[in-house]
Amino acid sequence: MTAIAPITTRFAPSPTGRLHVGNIRTALHNWMFARKMGGRFLLRIDDTDAQRSEERFTDAIRADLDWLGMTPDAEVRQSDRFALYEARFADLVAAGRIYPAYETAQELDLRRKVLAGRGLPPVYDRAALKLTDAQKAAFAEAGVAPHWRFKLDHDAPIHWDDLVRGPATFDPATMSDPVIRRADESWLYMLPSAIDDIDMGVTHVVRGEDHVSNTALQLQMFAAMGATPPAFAHAALLTGAEGKLSKRLGSLGTDHFREVGIEPQAVRALLARIGTSDPVEPIAEPEPLMATFDFGRFGRAPARFDEAELAQLNARTLHTLPFAEVADRLPAGMGESEWLAVRPNLTVLADAADWWRVIEGPVRADVADEDRDFLASATRLASAVDWAGDPWHALTNALKAETGRKGKALFLPLRRALTGRDHGPEMAALLPLIGRDRAVERLSA
Ligand code: GLU
Repeated sequence: MTAIAPITTRFAPSPTGRLHVGNIRTALHNWMFARKMGGRFLLRIDDTDAQRSEERFTDAIRADLDWLGMTPDAEVRQSDRFALYEARFADLVAAGRIYPAYETAQELDLRRKVLAGRGLPPVYDRAALKLTDAQKAAFAEAGVAPHWRFKLDHDAPIHWDDLVRGPATFDPATMSDPVIRRADESWLYMLPSAIDDIDMGVTHVVRGEDHVSNTALQLQMFAAMGATPPAFAHAALLTGAEGKLSKRLGSLGTDHFREVGIEPQAVRALLARIGTSDPVEPIAEPEPLMATFDFGRFGRAPARFDEAELAQLNARTLHTLPFAEVADRLPAGMGESEWLAVRPNLTVLADAADWWRVIEGPVRADVADEDRDFLASATRLASAVDWAGDPWHALTNALKAETGRKGKALFLPLRRALTGRDHGPEMAALLPLIGRDRAVERLSA
């Protein structure tokens, strides 16, 4: 019996900055798909660029994933894997699939301009392939180190069935042989990523559609290394609420979400569904989101990310959160009954502290002259009703019978006197928490 390799995805950020909402969405797709399929979700830190990679960003990426509840099964760093890249590189050079090139950036730029002037696409002309050994030796003697290009196979079109986009075809002859290594020997993203995907047993590469043309190139790298390529899913990119690619999205990340009181569950619920045919719903638990996750439900149009929609979803999600999930962030002393009473009124979790103060007191309320007698009756009846049952209904029924008041004239003065506010959680839930003594004191104030 042959063992079936587990579904394996990877989230592969470069630690050159903080994760933004687009990266978070990619991470979420990878995580949900792996979890749904009972597979593995790997974090790969793409830190081959030593100049721009910073440890603090790697730490922040881990912390962000942790906050979002998307813990990877394993983490690898490309900077630990240079020996592997070196070995594959040597093989590919020996096989003639990687070749040295010596053009300067200015030379390449000039050639592109010439091509553009003739209305031709800016495809590298492979001049370096025609260099003789003597010419290469001369470069070496002059101390000019080469950069390295991967030689595309022009013989057959590149094709794959994208899990989101459907059939995709590229003509390799219209693409430049990609530079995979710089003259200072540092690696560009493309080849190490393909090497890692093979080595890590990645079965599904899930990323944004800005990588579609990279996929065409990388498919040839997989083939050149004798590997079966993974499946690919390229999600359409995010746009801002205005429907345009928005600069702001690039700076929106977990720090901002936390600052404005957005819960990780709401971020997940929104990002899991936008751009798909499933409705955005306040689903706090990951399992139902995973259960409906399906690349076939992704649309081709850009997904709209709207901060106002997130804020609204956040409130609706908060209204469903069980006490255990928020207990450590509530004011000391606030218990489950208090949470359940105030939960439906929250926009952000921090609002719970306001309602806790309303329960605990003191509250200050201005009493209108015409309500004085009414509140005097309320004070007397509040002492008399049975507080073990449903004191709010007992109190309001008794008051209705005694004063003849009903509707707003009955309820509003009570709410004001008891909470100091005109609006808020259901009084039936709040009053038992305020309790007899405090209620009587507030009504008589
Ligand atoms: N480090 C690459 C990026 O952040 C990874 C792309 C990929 O998923 O292969 O764009």
